[in-house]
Formats: sequence, C-alpha cells, structure tokens
Amino acid sequence: MDRVTVSLDELPIRDDLRGQKPYGAPQAPLPVALNVNENTHPVPPEVADDIADAVARALREINRYPDREFLALREGFAQYLGHGLDASQIWAGNGSNEVLQHVLQAFAGPGRSAFGFGPTYSMYPLLTSGVGAEWIGGTRGHAYELSPEDAAEQVERARPDVIFLCAPNNPTGTPLPLDVIEAVYDASHGIVVVDEAYQEFAPRDSPSALTLLGGRPRLAVSRTMSKAFAFAGARVGYLAADPALIDALRLVRLPYHLSALTQAAAGAALQHATTMLRMVDEIVVQRDRMSATLEALGYRPSESWTNFVLFGGVADPAATWRALYDRGVLIRDIGIPGHLRVTAGTEEETTAFLEALAEIGAR
Ligand SMILES: *Cc1c(COP(=O)(O)O)cnc(C)c1O
Repeated sequence: MDRVTVSLDELPIRDDLRGQKPYGAPQAPLPVALNVNENTHPVPPEVADDIADAVARALREINRYPDREFLALREGFAQYLGHGLDASQIWAGNGSNEVLQHVLQAFAGPGRSAFGFGPTYSMYPLLTSGVGAEWIGGTRGHAYELSPEDAAEQVERARPDVIFLCAPNNPTGTPLPLDVIEAVYDASHGIVVVDEAYQEFAPRDSPSALTLLGGRPRLAVSRTMSKAFAFAGARVGYLAADPALIDALRLVRLPYHLSALTQAAAGAALQHATTMLRMVDEIVVQRDRMSATLEALGYRPSESWTNFVLFGGVADPAATWRALYDRGVLIRDIGIPGHLRVTAGTEEETTAFLEALAEIGAR
C-alpha cells in the first residue's frame, strides 16, 4: 500500500481539537531526570518480589476479565487513607489522570465548564478539552497563594461545573489551606476535586481534604501512586468521595478498565505502604537542600510542600534549561516567565543538579 501522509488539519477532527497540542513533557534519556516529579527512588527489591508474585498469580487467570469493581483494591485504598473511609467511597483508574477524566466525563462535557486557579496542573485544561468542555482559568495572588474570599469570588463569577484545587499545587509547590477548599465548596454548585497528588510530601501534621468529606457530597479527593509511592510506571490513581459520586463515575468508565495485572500489582504494593513510602522523608530532605542552595545561588525558590521546587530569578529559562540538558540534567520549563521547576532527586542527583546550575551561573 502507498504510504500517504496527511496533516492533522486534513482529517475530520473535532473543531474544538484543531490546533491543540498534546501533553508534551520532553522525554530524554539523560543520566539525571528531574523533570516530571517522579519518585527518583526505585521500588525496594523485597517489595518488587512480592509484586512480581502477585502479578504471576493474576496471570494464571488472565483468560478471564478482571473484577470490574476492583473491590479488594478499593478496600486497600480505604484502609491506606484511613479517616473511616470504606470501599464504597473509593474509585481508582489507570493513573489519577484517568480518574480526573472520569469526573469530567460524568460532570462536565459539551456546554459545561471546568475551572482551576492558574498556574496549576497543565493536564486540567487538556482533560477538559478532551471531553468537549470549556476551561476557565482563575488567578492566584502573591506567592501563588489564595485567600478564601478571593477564591470564592472567582468561583462564584465563573459558575463552573467542575473545580480542580491542586493541593499542594503543581507546578508551584504551594500549600492550600482547608478554609479555601471550604469557601470554594460553599461558593459553588459543581463538583470540587481536591487533587492531593503530593499530599504525602506535605508536613506530617498538615490536614488532608479527606477530613472535609463528611457532609459534602460534591467534594472528591484524588490521590496517585505515581509520586510518593514510586509507582508511576504502573499507572494507578484513586479518589475518595461520597458513594453517590462514585456511582456517577461508574457510568462513564470503560468496562474492566483496571486490568487484573494492575489490580494485583497495586494491591501488593499497598500491602507494603510503609516501605513504599520510606523514601518520602529522604526526598523532603533533598527538596529542602535544593531550596536552600537555590536561594544561596541567588534564585528565588517558592515554598514547597511537594517533591519539587519552582524557582524564579532565571534570566533566560530556555537557555538555563538547555545548559543543564547539555550537562545531563533534565528539568522542566513550565512556561512561567523567569522560572524553572526541578524535581527533588536522590542525594547524588540533587548534587548533580545543584553543581551543574552553579557552574552555569559562574560562566
Ligand atoms: C503527577 C500528578 C498527577 C498524577 O498523575 P497520574 O496519572 O496518577 O500519574 C496528578 N495530579 C497532579 C497535580 C500531578 O502533578
């Protein structure tokens, strides 16, 4: 057959997708990859062995469809989250991105809208346009912070059907006080999703939005195994909410969306939650070392409750990004003028980044 290559514009693609760009964090095989906020520590070998055994057992029945309701896994997540949650209040998907997509499919869609306070996670607008809904971008105040009054006022004006509150926020690292979440909930009629992808990196005594779930049927709290759990490659995210909200997500998921292998791997990993999370404290140490050294180098790191640091004071972000790349260090230019974002690495990776940056500055 002749190979005929057409441009995307020549295909009968949806009008609202014309000219859009796919998610595109550069993937490059550099020795020090600190660009997509992965956990830079691999799964401990003894846990990996257990996961392999669980996957091997699941393989013996792989001729059958998996448990469509992934009940054992939901019970595992409920137990891990605590706060008196049970399996009826838990949902999961192939990454929290899929879980967020389910929320949008059920509660947004054509003629509806989703909202978030920018700068925030770049996938929210993409997921929103994917379901044909309109994205409305709100704003943040000084140091990317939000007051309950300002947040509520913006939400009242926008009247969105779904609201994403990233807490702590990506790409800024900023914490989000619970009173902002309460104010946004009260000011809206839509679904309020608190994305706690980085909650495990926040100070131990900082309360989760899970504490607000009681009596708030439009509130959902999403988490992921991709960051603190060192499980990005497995693609597992989950959410806690009122059972009625979970029922709504069942209407839009694909049947058997969580494979038997994924369920087995995630379930086994959850049994080792303490070991899987062992590296969190070490990552927080490296994050704080990064912030302190960045400041000493004359940059302006934002306060971070995550496993990454956004820093300002970069004269030419594209040039600095490239100079680090040339030294084998991959970080992220997230498009905020004068800023770059870097993931906290192992001690060696963090040192490699800081030394490369110091070297560039000294040129
Ligand atoms: C990394 C990240 C996620 C997780 O995505 P997965 O699909 O679970 O890998 C979700 N939300 C935010 C804000 C993130 O930074």
